[in-house]
Amino acid sequence: MNLILLGPPGAGKGTQSKYLVDQHALVQVSTGDMLREARKNQTELGKKAEAFMRAGKLVPDEVVIGLVEERLSLADCKNGFVLDGFPRTVAQAEELSVLLEKKQKKIQMVLSIEVADDELVSRLSGRRVCKECGRTYHSLFSKPIVQGICDKCGGVVIQRDDDREETIRQRLRVYNEQTYPLISFYKERGMLRTVSGIGDIASISRAIDALLQGTA
Ligand code: AMP
Repeated sequence: MNLILLGPPGAGKGTQSKYLVDQHALVQVSTGDMLREARKNQTELGKKAEAFMRAGKLVPDEVVIGLVEERLSLADCKNGFVLDGFPRTVAQAEELSVLLEKKQKKIQMVLSIEVADDELVSRLSGRRVCKECGRTYHSLFSKPIVQGICDKCGGVVIQRDDDREETIRQRLRVYNEQTYPLISFYKERGMLRTVSGIGDIASISRAIDALLQGTA
């Protein structure tokens, strides 16, 4: 099974991708994670992406498409993957269709996680992440036991530099202008299913499962 998770930043795509990885043995392909890794390692690509990411803008399509193409060619994607944060523009979605056709693969479902903008700003400005394992926390609602230290791995818990309020608003503008059109793109192709991203994580996972089993 191959899936796309669509939704604004902070909707919970990463969290639900991890659930799908654990429960359905899919591989998570997160362009945001891949770009952050490239940035951390200061690769050529990482250096190219850095300024766009810091400003809350999208990294140019050709850079991201190249990354995804390479990632989907790896053997672990053979049994199914979940695309998290890709595609983010209509051009990326069109390129993805071409790429998948070449590889004789199909996307079975596009899941759109819906959350209103005001809720996203409060979620993202409080979001904290472990630098080592990527586990997420919230500065008010879900703090680590020891401040600044990850409960799971002992890594340092930080605020992503694009999770500051001004950048968050810019990322939401970019989402509404460039990514939201993908909702109609996939609706027209009969691939889109939507799920509310409000509520506790487990109930959202259950709603996703019901969609995957064709019972919702
Ligand atoms: P994310 O973790 O998915 O919110 O991504 C963080 C940042 O990485 C975004 O704000 C963009 O700058 C960049 N990025 C991630 N995925 C893409 C994509 N598919 N196309 C362009 N830029 C991306």
